[in-house]
Amino acid sequence: MAKVMIIGAGGVGRVVTYKCAQHPEVFSEILLASRTKTKCDFIAREAMLATGHKHIETAAVDAENVPQLVELIKKFQPAMVIHVALPYQDLTIMEACLETGVHYLDTANYEPKDVAKFEYSWQWAYQERFQEKGLLAVLGCGFDPGVTSIFTARAAKHHFDEIHYLDIIDCNAGDHGKAFATNFNPEINIREVTQKGKYWENGQWVETEPHEISQMINYPDIGPKKSYVIYHEELESLVKNFPTLKRARFWMTFGDEYLTHLRVIQNIGMASIEPIIYNGMEIIPLEFLKAVLPDPGELGTNYTGQTSIGCRIRGIKDGQEKTYYIWNNCSHEAAFHETGTQGVSYTTGVPAMTGAMMMLTGQWTGVGVKNVEEFNPDPFLAKLGEHGLPWHEVSNIDLEL
Ligand code: NDP
Repeated sequence: MAKVMIIGAGGVGRVVTYKCAQHPEVFSEILLASRTKTKCDFIAREAMLATGHKHIETAAVDAENVPQLVELIKKFQPAMVIHVALPYQDLTIMEACLETGVHYLDTANYEPKDVAKFEYSWQWAYQERFQEKGLLAVLGCGFDPGVTSIFTARAAKHHFDEIHYLDIIDCNAGDHGKAFATNFNPEINIREVTQKGKYWENGQWVETEPHEISQMINYPDIGPKKSYVIYHEELESLVKNFPTLKRARFWMTFGDEYLTHLRVIQNIGMASIEPIIYNGMEIIPLEFLKAVLPDPGELGTNYTGQTSIGCRIRGIKDGQEKTYYIWNNCSHEAAFHETGTQGVSYTTGVPAMTGAMMMLTGQWTGVGVKNVEEFNPDPFLAKLGEHGLPWHEVSNIDLEL
């Protein structure tokens, strides 16, 4: 039984709160804190009604303000913080955890506001400070990064002597009925998908133009979908932790309509993060765009279809070449029915709760800053299906890639 503090009351924060509330035997008291307290109050009320959990408190906090965070953590005294606000706040929340002596878990690596660039270096630099304090910081425990890295760890542990080729494939075949919307925070999402592509091959990074490499990939229960190589953050830690990898790529599906909107948004300057003066006020076009786009947390109402995310891997087992595919499909409707939000928030929130459960029940231990593939994948994957994300695996199939 432990107290947990969740930071961020968006779509993912909502799912994490619901899922923690379903397990009072582990998460006996919950504090949901975010910038806008009314959003926390709304989620807490609904989660308590849906699950019967009796102890969900709420608070307002600016997660970029370390003294505010420290004051709140000291008052509530949680065993750990689950950070599902925005990647801009990773470092301030890690600082506050160090100052108050609590463990940390997040789902996205740090990204400075003024440079559209994400990498682990900033958070890996906290390694010694977390070790010295005897604390654990778990990085990237959503679906991708998160489950995809744990799938890879399972493959390396149980199915291969050496993994050589890794393709993470991420398909959202859902339909939310809107002309254009992003499935998680629009600002973070647009920064990610408009970047140049990048993948790992023969010991170095190969850069591509955005969406330069594409091919049709067959997804289970969905069928063929055009998929594009993009850079995704788990590649950085996976090639470090699995040095036998000769190539590692990340593929994501995008519809033609989505890409057309994205191109227009970029062409007219709305994806820019350079401040401009508008009516005497400084605004950032991408932040303004976020304010007019649909809230991803509220896309669930009419969302149909499913997501399918997994890892296709080639390598060597007992001297023979072997192929392996491990994946999860998640229904947007089922996610909405259970938690009131769509599948992308659900597939992020369920692993965050499951990772927190691993830490609080002593199944993931250690000190310092760790990516999820550094832990034993077995207890996590044993729980993941039970928590709402069942997974499947097959060997020796045609990988297509
Ligand atoms: P949302 O934009 O819906 O929610 C973000 C929440 O953070 C909002 O409640 C927002 O407050 C709050 N917030 C923003 N700034 C601050 C601040 N300074 N202090 C306190 N709270 C703040 O995002 P999502 O729920 O869609 O995504 C949450 C996180 O999950 C993101 O970091 C995203 O990158 C990550 N993610 C990870 C995935 C994975 O598979 N690993 C996949 C999808 C998302 P307010 O309500 O006031 O705006």
